[in-house]
Amino acid sequence: MKYTSQRGTRDILPVDMPVWHNLEKNCRKLFELYNYFEIRTPIFESTELFARSIGESSDIVSKEMYTFKDKGDRSITLRPEATAPVVRAAIQNNLIEKDKITKLYYMGPMFRYERPQAGRYRQFYQSGVEVFGSKDPALDAEVISLSVQIMDKLGLSDLSVKINSVGCKSCRPKYMETLKEYFKSNAKNLCETCNNRLETNPLRILDCKDPSCQKHIENAPAIIDFLCEECKTHFEKVIYWLNVLNIKYEINKRLVRGLDYYTKTTFEIVSGKLGAQNAVCGGGRYDNLVVEFGGNDTPAIGFAIGMDRMVEVLKEHGTQSTEHRFRLLYIATLGDAAKKLGVELLLNIRKSGYAAEMDYIGKSLKSQMKEADRIKAKYVLILGEDEIKSGKAMLRNMETAEQGEVLLDKVLEEIIVRLQSKGSKF
Ligand code: AMP
Repeated sequence: MKYTSQRGTRDILPVDMPVWHNLEKNCRKLFELYNYFEIRTPIFESTELFARSIGESSDIVSKEMYTFKDKGDRSITLRPEATAPVVRAAIQNNLIEKDKITKLYYMGPMFRYERPQAGRYRQFYQSGVEVFGSKDPALDAEVISLSVQIMDKLGLSDLSVKINSVGCKSCRPKYMETLKEYFKSNAKNLCETCNNRLETNPLRILDCKDPSCQKHIENAPAIIDFLCEECKTHFEKVIYWLNVLNIKYEINKRLVRGLDYYTKTTFEIVSGKLGAQNAVCGGGRYDNLVVEFGGNDTPAIGFAIGMDRMVEVLKEHGTQSTEHRFRLLYIATLGDAAKKLGVELLLNIRKSGYAAEMDYIGKSLKSQMKEADRIKAKYVLILGEDEIKSGKAMLRNMETAEQGEVLLDKVLEEIIVRLQSKGSKF
């Protein structure tokens, strides 16, 4: 019986790891430069945590969650995103303190039951940040700037930052009413899903890609024209600080994002190198979530980078790094006595902090040399019966094809010296 991975999931293979590692390394580096600390939350949480925060009528909650009952009859959901878990964890572990800023970052898999396509998976990876404790628009700009710095550091161009404000509890309801009225008057031209959205959440209609809805979306009232004084001033100040930081952006009046918890600033980074699924990063402010989860009233903002899509863009760019592997020693052995010495040496080389490998298949000496070449060993130590008898072994530099004898008594030191040095005798 052969098994295959589940639809919408995939194996990330060693060949792609240098790109993933480079991306993860740069994210961590930048997060730490901006003074964020890593947090790891469980892969599964109570279903309610997501239903309440992301919103019952959102696509994620209404149709994309991996939800099941555990053996204790609890409703469990594999996390579709990390903001709600991080907020829960920050409150539960008392990480949020009055008049202090808490900066957290995460990295890991998320799960959504979506229709798989290029750049859209059922298990995908996100890396992101969440900041608690400030409603300063300069912080919004800092958070956006951090995501841009990551893209810059990775050498990515052809990206654009889209920004909008989705208002707050006091101004959004009026906008929603106006939007609902507007779409209702065009209901017969909207797709079936959007007709349902009319009642549940008219804001979601703005995300619809259906051509019949598109032209009505274009002419729909924009939330930005409905902002209350506070949200309007906040938005203007975010723009001011983005200009101070020299961040290029476009105001996108239709950017409402798919999660209900957002307030005020929302933003996305879009790549010109991807097809339909072109957003590589999305985020925004969520000033009510901490209090809704039972914490003290604490404003917050964050973003999530879609790592799978970033890897695609990095590969497109041809900027993938070839990972620097260790300088590897291969020990080729012939005969039992040589094998015993080889096994001991292998352990000691690795204990000394150097990479080493040997044959466990029983290959001929010639095939072992070929194998050493295939795995890109820098040196091969050849240990045969004659070598054991004479107390000497042959060490070969695979790059230069130079070789020479080393004394078995001193073999560990001799090898380490060579693995350490750049230019060597052979
Ligand atoms: P969201 O949590 O929906 O705001 O998504 C943030 C980022 O995660 C998006 O901009 C995408 O890059 C990425 N993303 C979201 N859903 C998926 C998915 N199903 N497959 C791959 N990447 C995704």
